[in-house]
This record gives sequence, C-alpha cells and structure tokens, in this order.
Amino acid sequence: MAKNSDGNGKIYKKRNVDYRSDLGSLGKDAQVCGFCKFFVPPSTGLMPRKKGDCELVQGKIDATYTCNLWAPREDMDEEEY
Ligand code: SF4
Repeated sequence: MAKNSDGNGKIYKKRNVDYRSDLGSLGKDAQVCGFCKFFVPPSTGLMPRKKGDCELVQGKIDATYTCNLWAPREDMDEEEY
C-alpha cells in the first residue's frame, strides 16, 4: 500500500476533512475528536488541554475539535476500557 508523504499511514490533511473547533456541541453525545473512534489520546492525559493524535488525520488533534470523518467509538457503551 502506498504511504502518504509523512510516512506514518495518516492519509488526510486537516484542511481536506474540514477539521474545526466544535466547542459549541460539547456534551455527552458530542461528535468531537475526544469521542471519535480514530482519536488517540496523549499518554499524559488530556488535561490541561493536551492534544492527541488521529489515526487518519495528520498533525496534533484537539479533543474538542471535529472533522468530516468522525465516527462513534465502538467501546462507548462498555463498562471497561
Ligand atoms: S477522524 Fe476527525 S473527528 Fe475523528 S479523531 Fe480524527 S480528526 Fe477528530
């Protein structure tokens, strides 16, 4: 499989997926990066305002942002994770 320019398998640039702030919809069902199946939280935790990574989108990712690729986490209804 061909690799993208940054070589780590992330195939989208933020501007191509309309990566944007979504603070206005924060809440239990918010469709933000922090609740997206592709989000990878920072090892140090999200506070204070640490950014994570995305399996698909290049660059650092803010948990309160969103993009056109958002998808629900499969473990959202499970007790342990
Ligand atoms: S796919 Fe989009 S919404 Fe999901 S974590 Fe990545 S940037 Fe955020």
